[in-house]
Amino acid sequence: MATPQSQPVNTVGLYEKRRKVYARGVRGLFNNWRWIMVWLTQALFYGLCWLDWGDRQAVLFHLVERKFYIFGMVFWPQDAIYLAVLLVISAYLLFLVTAIGGRLFCGYACPQTVYTEIFMWIERKVEGDRPARMKLDAQPLSARKFRLKVVKHLLWAAVALWTGFTFVGYFTPIRELVVSVGAFSLGGWEIFWIFFYSGFLYLMAGFMREQMCKYLCPYARFQSVMFDPDTLIIGYDPERGEPRGPRRKNADPAVRQGDCIDCGLCVQVCPTGIDIRKGLQLECIACAACIDACDEVMDKVKLPRGLIRYSTENALARHYSGRDIVAHLLRPRTLIYATILLLLVGATLWSLATRLPLKVDVIRDRATLYREADDERIENVFQLHVMNTDEQPRRYAVAVAGIDGIKIVGETTLEVPAASSRNFVVVASVKDGAAPKGSSKIIFDVRALENDRIVVQEKSTFYMP
Ligand code: SF4
Ligand code: SF4
Repeated sequence: MATPQSQPVNTVGLYEKRRKVYARGVRGLFNNWRWIMVWLTQALFYGLCWLDWGDRQAVLFHLVERKFYIFGMVFWPQDAIYLAVLLVISAYLLFLVTAIGGRLFCGYACPQTVYTEIFMWIERKVEGDRPARMKLDAQPLSARKFRLKVVKHLLWAAVALWTGFTFVGYFTPIRELVVSVGAFSLGGWEIFWIFFYSGFLYLMAGFMREQMCKYLCPYARFQSVMFDPDTLIIGYDPERGEPRGPRRKNADPAVRQGDCIDCGLCVQVCPTGIDIRKGLQLECIACAACIDACDEVMDKVKLPRGLIRYSTENALARHYSGRDIVAHLLRPRTLIYATILLLLVGATLWSLATRLPLKVDVIRDRATLYREADDERIENVFQLHVMNTDEQPRRYAVAVAGIDGIKIVGETTLEVPAASSRNFVVVASVKDGAAPKGSSKIIFDVRALENDRIVVQEKSTFYMP
């Protein structure tokens, strides 16, 4: 359809151009909590891989050996069920935390938030706070600007590389990794993952920042279905704050003025660049920086803190007290999540506590269905795959039952080194005619010689001609 000449054409782009966010530094209670979480999570991440357990790394996902070591436990690929259960538990924990506390994970513990916080701290130390950085970016390139940018990027790269190195240290023993770096003998995959992880972190925490949360994070998308009006959010109290505006000495006392002095500091400290006064928004990662900024402003203008505060939609609308908010934490949704979580955690702990450090697979020898021995007995040949998941070598006694007079021919003691598996050829024999023709069920019994509690029984079949 032709556009009349007189009407201006308004072109709207499909994608909004990114406005760079210059988050201002902030001080306060929640900023302290954020930094406590940064220290805790990073002390755990950077430190855990250096801890030893006996003569090995305490936490190691050894891909070459296909064994996962977590302190005193050794997990094998056959234990993948625990990984699945761990994922389910993590999901329910996230559901529960989100239903109660909203985006607490995003604001305090998400790696994207934590590393962005570290990268922004470096940026502030090198280039200065928000006004200095805005001024620097607006300037043409100069020797000073170049120097500051180079220093900032070198520091970012150092943090990213150390993080990538640490990450790989959970999959290759980290002390061996240090030696390999010193000897320039790192493997291809190790080099790839160190640089891939570092590059990813450098990009995410240095450049992408809030765009990750806004456009890429799937949790940000689906967490809204776990929210309800009693979920904790960071909210601006419009009844108290509006009408907003600067305080003027000659203001008419008859005209009510809200507590918000429209200083804009809550927007300036926001790492996602939003204005919380417009209400709950998808972009809000609940970092609480705006609470700290506004509380400081309220202190200065001698008004009560909490114009922006942790609250719930119901609490803001119905003027709940702190006690009412806590009372609304227990609701069907949270109770269901908590019950399922407790059951899952309980079952997993019970399963881990009673887990036997022995696994046995019995495979019939496919080449020989049966054979006749010289003493007129019938023999079947089996392969026993014995996995000793303990951290000490074990000797096991193997026996067989299920048919009258069935016995093992030859050696009945099997030795398996610590955290290893071995294949043994085992021959079972019965008197001719002791069992009907065809297949009969038999049971192999493998038990540790030094510990009677460690015993596994595996079914198989004995074939009679
Ligand atoms: S920091 Fe507080 S007073 Fe300042 S604009 Fe934000 S809500 Fe208003
Ligand atoms: S609105 Fe407040 S809590 Fe939300 S992301 Fe911005 S500063 Fe953080």
